[in-house]
Amino acid sequence: PAPGTPLLSVEHAVKQFGGLRAVNDVSFELRAGEILGLIGPNGAGKSTMFNLVTGVNPATSGRVSFMGRDITRLTAGQIHRLGLARTFQHVHLLPELSLLQNAMMGGYARGRAGMLASLLHLERREEAALQHEALRQLERVGLGELAHTLAGNLALGQQRVLEVARALVADPTLLLLDEPAAGLRYGEKMDLADLLRRLRAEGVTILLVEHDMDLVMGLVDRLVVMNYGEKLAEGSPAEIRAHPAVREAYLGV
Ligand code: ADP
Ligand code: MG
Repeated sequence: PAPGTPLLSVEHAVKQFGGLRAVNDVSFELRAGEILGLIGPNGAGKSTMFNLVTGVNPATSGRVSFMGRDITRLTAGQIHRLGLARTFQHVHLLPELSLLQNAMMGGYARGRAGMLASLLHLERREEAALQHEALRQLERVGLGELAHTLAGNLALGQQRVLEVARALVADPTLLLLDEPAAGLRYGEKMDLADLLRRLRAEGVTILLVEHDMDLVMGLVDRLVVMNYGEKLAEGSPAEIRAHPAVREAYLGV
């Protein structure tokens, strides 16, 4: 899609868990080529929003469309195949497998068992193609030399980067990252920010949930701020920094 065209559109999304509205009437749009930050205090509904966009836990009401197509009721696998890949808030890797094998899992959209089964039943030719692509993405993120080592041996920062590589193996139009810098050291965060800037320059559109304000502010094009399930504000980093309700609710000033 041409830069600036709407890629993802969330309209009046609601997610109800029993008596709790984890997402309450939230609308926003994501345009091709941008990094959009989704921020807000713990419990604001960011991961829930991710889960309803990716089909992991669909919306109670409202509408999500991706490239003009209604994806509100599609399964996670169907949405993944349309070109929307994600990472999770907590690291989801198989530590006893190599980086290459972990990255290859990104070629599949289902749960772990499904991914593993698919991997085991691949035709040799398909497997070779997938392996080639996984290696290419590991090289793209700077992990190529470690392709044959075990994922469990990686530092947390590298595990996060491996998850990005795994998501990229699906050649996504849109990459969703849920707190990729959580638990990282300062240097690791800076490396991750450099990687995300480079991906944007290469045409990957990114929706980034992140807690670290310094990282977010220096990286994203626009921000959506959530609080108690609702959208509190939307705008450029400068606009969000100056927004009174955001300062009160999130920045604590
Ligand atoms: P964030 O990612 O912004 O920290 P979450 O989306 O994880 O917030 O959670 C938003 C709210 O929804 C929280 O109050 C959380 O406890 C609740 N919540 C999230 N997932 C579930 C679930 N599966 N069942 C019940 N409540 C949930
Ligand atoms: Mg979360």
